[in-house]
Amino acid sequence: MRMMVLKTVLNSIRDVGMNTKPIAIVGAGPTGATLGLLLAERGLPVVVIEASRNFRRVFRGEGLMPSGLEALGQMGLSELVNQVPNQTIGSWEFVIEGRSIFSVDEPMGNNLPCTLVAQPQLLEAVIDRAKAFPNFRFISGETVQSLITENDRISGCSLSNGETIQTALVIGCDGRSSSIRKLSGLTLNEEAKPFNVVWFKLPDTDLIPQSNPFTIFVKGEAVFSLFRSSEGLIQVGWSVQNEDWKSVTDWSETLAEASPPWLADYFRTQNVVEAIPNRPLCLTVTVGHAPEWSKQGCLLLGDAAHPMSPIRAQGINMALRDAIVATNYLVEAWRSADQSLITIFDRALLQIQADRDPEIHQIQSLQAQEAADGMKLHRSAALRNLVKTLAPIVGIGLREKWKLRQRKLRSGTTIVRLKV
Ligand SMILES: Cc1cc2nc3c(=O)[nH]c(=O)nc-3n(C[C@H](O)[C@H](O)[C@H](O)COP(=O)(O)OP(=O)(O)OC[C@H]3O[C@@H](n4cnc5c(N)ncnc54)[C@H](O)[C@@H]3O)c2cc1C
Repeated sequence: MRMMVLKTVLNSIRDVGMNTKPIAIVGAGPTGATLGLLLAERGLPVVVIEASRNFRRVFRGEGLMPSGLEALGQMGLSELVNQVPNQTIGSWEFVIEGRSIFSVDEPMGNNLPCTLVAQPQLLEAVIDRAKAFPNFRFISGETVQSLITENDRISGCSLSNGETIQTALVIGCDGRSSSIRKLSGLTLNEEAKPFNVVWFKLPDTDLIPQSNPFTIFVKGEAVFSLFRSSEGLIQVGWSVQNEDWKSVTDWSETLAEASPPWLADYFRTQNVVEAIPNRPLCLTVTVGHAPEWSKQGCLLLGDAAHPMSPIRAQGINMALRDAIVATNYLVEAWRSADQSLITIFDRALLQIQADRDPEIHQIQSLQAQEAADGMKLHRSAALRNLVKTLAPIVGIGLREKWKLRQRKLRSGTTIVRLKV
C-alpha cells in the first residue's frame, strides 16, 4: 500500500516538475508535522521548518480526545499511537473540598477513550515517515525570521541560518505566539487571560489506580488536576490566576493541604519532595481567534490561527482536524491547477477558514463554559460547601450536565473527513 502511495507521488512530482516552489510549513507541532506528511504523501513539494532541534524541548500537551484519535486514524497513523508511550484515561473525577462529587467512566459512548500520547515521540515518528518522500524536506533547529513579499503577496521566507526559500505558500503552524501571524500582519483577537498552569511531573504511586482517573481537585483557593501521563509519571497541573504561585516555597505542602488525606501523605513523601522542581514551569494559557487566517500566499493553522485553552484537551485535536481540512482543499487546488496555481491556492485558503471556523468557535465557547463553572466554584466558598454538603443530591444533576457538554468536546462539532 505504502509503495503504491510512493509511486503515485513520484508520478505527480514528474508531472509538476521538480522546480515547482514548495509549500513552506513553519512549525512541526501536531498541526505542521501531520500536514507536512499528508501533503508530501499526495505529491506536493513541502518543506517543514522547526525551530527546536529536539521535539522534547518544547512543551506539548498530550491528551487526545476520540476526535483527535479518529483524525490520526484517517491519516493512517493509529499504529504510531500504539508504538509510542501512551496511557488511557479511565474516568473523570471531581473532588470538591475533599469530597468526591461525581465521576464519569471513559469512553463515554465513544469507541475510543481519551488517551495521553507522548507528543515528542509521535511527532518524530510522523516526520520520519514524511522523510521517505523525495518531495519532503525537513529543516530543524532553524526559525523563520522574515517573510518575503512581492506585489503584496507573500512569496518566500528567510531562515535563521540565512537561507531564503521561495514559496508557493507559507503555512504558519507555529503555535500560540506565532511569528508568522505577526510577520504577515494577521491579527489575533485574544480573550482576557483565563488562567495559567503550573505544570510538573512526580513519581508514580499505587494511590492512583491503574485505571488512571483524571481527577480535578478544588479546595479553598486551590484548583489542580492530576493524572498518570503517557510515560507513567504523575502529572500535576495547578491552575493559577496571577503571580501568587511565585511566592510558593513549599510545593509539596501546598499540594498536600489542597488534597484529601489519602493523597496528602503522598505529596509529603521524600521521593515526591525531591522530584518537585525548584522552579516549576508556568505555562501561559492564550485563548483567541484570528479574524482572518490568511492573506495572499500565507495561511495560519492550529494554535497560530486559534490558540486553544488546555481545558478538556482540545488543541491537538483541533490541530489534527485543521490539517485534514487544509489537505483536502490544498490538494484539490494543486491537482486542478496549471499556470494559475497561485490564484487557486488563495481561494482555497478562504475555504479552509470557512470550513473550520464554526467548529473552532463552538469548541472555544464550550471550553469557556467549563472554565466559567470552575471559576464560580473557585470564587465562592459558600458554593463549594453547598456542593460538598449536598453532593449525594446535586451530584447526579451536575454529572449529567457535565456529560452533555462533553459530547461535542470529545467528538467535535462537524464532520471532518480526509477526502483526497
Ligand atoms: C498547559 C497546557 C496543556 C495542554 N494540554 C493539552 C492536551 O492535553 N491536549 C490537547 O489537545 N491540547 C493541549 N494543550 C493545547 C495544545 O498544546 C495546543 O493546542 C497544540 O499543541 C497546538 O498545536 P500546534 O501544532 O498548532 O502548535 P504547537 O504545538 O505550539 O507547535 C508549534 C511549533 O512551531 C515551532 N515554532 C515556533 N515558532 C517557530 C518559527 N519562527 N520557526 C520555526 N518553528 C517555529 C515550535 O518549536 C513548535 O514545535 C495544552 C496547552 C497548555 C498550555
